[in-house]
Amino acid sequence: MTRYHLAFAGNPNAGKTTLFNTITGSRQHVGNYPGITVERKVGSIQVDQKPVDIVDLPGCYSLTAYTQEELVTRQVLVEERPDLVVNVVDATKLERHLYLTVQFLELGVPVMLALNMMDDVRSKGMHIDLERLGEKIGCPAVGTVARTGEGKQTLLEQALKTADARRDQPWQPLRLGYGPDVDPVLDELEALIAQHQLLTDAYSARWTALKYIEGDESILELGRNKNTSLSSELEQKVDALREHCLKTLNTFPEAIIADYRYGFIHALLKDNIITYPQQRSRFDVTDRMDVVLTHKFAGPLIMFGLLYAMFQVTFTLGDYPLQVMEWLFGRIADLATDLLPSGYLQSLVVSGIIDGVGGVLSFVPLIVIMFMLIAFLEDSGYMARVAYMLDKVFRTFGLHGSSVMPFIISGGIAGGCAVPGVMAARTLRSPREKLATILTAPFMPCGAKIPVFLLLIGAFFSQHQPLIMFIITLTAWCMALLVARILRSTLIRGESTPFVMELPPYRWPTLQGLLIHTWERTWDYIKKAGTVILAISVLLWAAMTFPGLDTEQEARFSQQQQQLELQREQAQDDEKTAIEEQLQTLHRQRSMTALRQSAAGRLGTQLEPLTQYAGFNWRTNIALLGGVAAKEVIVSTLGTAYSLGEIDAEEAGTLISRIKQDPDWNPAAAASAMIFVLLYAPCFVTLVVMSRESNWKWAAFALVFNSAVAFAAASLVYQIGRYLI
Ligand code: GDP
Ligand code: MG
Repeated sequence: MTRYHLAFAGNPNAGKTTLFNTITGSRQHVGNYPGITVERKVGSIQVDQKPVDIVDLPGCYSLTAYTQEELVTRQVLVEERPDLVVNVVDATKLERHLYLTVQFLELGVPVMLALNMMDDVRSKGMHIDLERLGEKIGCPAVGTVARTGEGKQTLLEQALKTADARRDQPWQPLRLGYGPDVDPVLDELEALIAQHQLLTDAYSARWTALKYIEGDESILELGRNKNTSLSSELEQKVDALREHCLKTLNTFPEAIIADYRYGFIHALLKDNIITYPQQRSRFDVTDRMDVVLTHKFAGPLIMFGLLYAMFQVTFTLGDYPLQVMEWLFGRIADLATDLLPSGYLQSLVVSGIIDGVGGVLSFVPLIVIMFMLIAFLEDSGYMARVAYMLDKVFRTFGLHGSSVMPFIISGGIAGGCAVPGVMAARTLRSPREKLATILTAPFMPCGAKIPVFLLLIGAFFSQHQPLIMFIITLTAWCMALLVARILRSTLIRGESTPFVMELPPYRWPTLQGLLIHTWERTWDYIKKAGTVILAISVLLWAAMTFPGLDTEQEARFSQQQQQLELQREQAQDDEKTAIEEQLQTLHRQRSMTALRQSAAGRLGTQLEPLTQYAGFNWRTNIALLGGVAAKEVIVSTLGTAYSLGEIDAEEAGTLISRIKQDPDWNPAAAASAMIFVLLYAPCFVTLVVMSRESNWKWAAFALVFNSAVAFAAASLVYQIGRYLI
């Protein structure tokens, strides 16, 4: 039996995913933020005993490959040739959403319309003549309400009928005119392309010609690879056209093309296809809310208030489960210590595995709360307003309004994590802006860096804690924006994309949506702890453990230990505590000697001649090197390096006093170390996520570049500080 292959496509927020969910019943993300659906989602169902496969394509505004979503959509259409594209449009914004429809028609792929949000249409008192619209556009148009499932049966019936009618027939591209300036050149290009059969196995000649004029990078590249001489001839003609348009009309050819497409839509919708109620209320609820929430002055104030409240709630609520989790992992570690014989295996399991993974998993309750609140802000439509308000500021630095969220999640306000932060950059539609955001988000003071700041502030600036924390946060934002600006004018140069994201209406989020959304992100985080963190914990443990003491040292320490133990047995009760302490000291000396001789210790010592310019000694170096694996380990490594063994809250005070007494440390070195920790290489997991979101070269770049920036800044601070002291 023939399988039907349908593709759901449309602008972000048209309701594709919701429709897909009600039809396939499969679980999926439902949200308001454009561009989240970058993964491929497929579902299979039976309609009248016929098997139907449905793919939910990422939301996009156009079929010109300006963004990854658009490229993905186009590739699926051309390479997989679905039987039918079900173009989901928001019926309340028909004019704007039909822009994409026109491009499906121009491409020639079989298409039908699902006019979604018909409930909103009705409640606004509008009426849409579906039948006449379908006739004029030349494909069926069905009304749906994705949230309730209304219209889905009709939609599927029509879809199969249309697919059957168009099956095994060539695509039928719609030929539009684009005016006296573009048309002659378009015809000329089309003839050339047809003559040389350039890409004609996939696209119609006219469509390829159109993409040349629109400057579609992906098609240009394909063309260059297939036929270099023809391609450069075509590009020359396009350049000439571009110059002509700029001179005579003061605009770009692609803008002219867009104008004509809108003209076509306008004509389609004429003659009362849409009727509005007699009295259109000037303000609906969303508009009224936006008057306040995006107000020039009140808007940002409310925004900062909300974000601040969000973090307050997260940390207040999250503190209790966090303590429970820490207690739980402490118990597990104790249990492992009891069960395993002391030695390398015990050390690996307790210090390497349980501490490392436990440290990350303890944050899960906090993360759940934070993601839940963020999901609420997103699904309700508020996050789009935040991006909208900050867009102007961010644009100045070569970023985009949507860069705000990655920054905030990475720790832009008070603790966070660059891993979900970098992942949140998926909502950015331009690859360049996305890259700039990914590279600078790790500058934010994430939750793992904060203990380092607290430690050093406690040691040297205890009078000014809030002020110093404020300065640190401010420095992070300034550096992120500054570096973004530099990168965007050098390595990742290119135009900024306009703020195409539309502001969705405010909606009360559904509980199911919130839960799915939160769960997906939390699960990502847990998976990370189980795999990557586990691996680096083990590696780091090995680097700080091997090669260990040589036989001679081993013998000496064992001998001393035996002596002390013997003394303890023979000692009186009142002497026992003193001997016990001596034993502890011996134990610490032993671990410190082993540490200095370990691979990490040697590296730290070798780096000293360089790092002294920033005021770091070999112990600090080890801690900072460990911090590349995970920032969480900096304080505990410092503790070990200062021969204190395990550092917990009560002993932190002791570490502070040790550091204060060490002549290598002073306020200048502390300030320098804080700057360095704030800015240097992203932690290993962040690097992995960065390379997954861009590629490994950019992750390597971040490793080297951020560390260089951090070292320069730290050295500067240290040298100035020393001069002042
Ligand atoms: P996508 O970006 O096209 O995948 O859109 P989503 O499926 O994520 O939907 C965007 C928002 O519109 C969500 O908040 C949905 O709950 C909401 N939504 C989807 N369909 C309808 C509908 O038919 N009526 C109404 N009122 N809301 C809808
Ligand atoms: Mg979606």
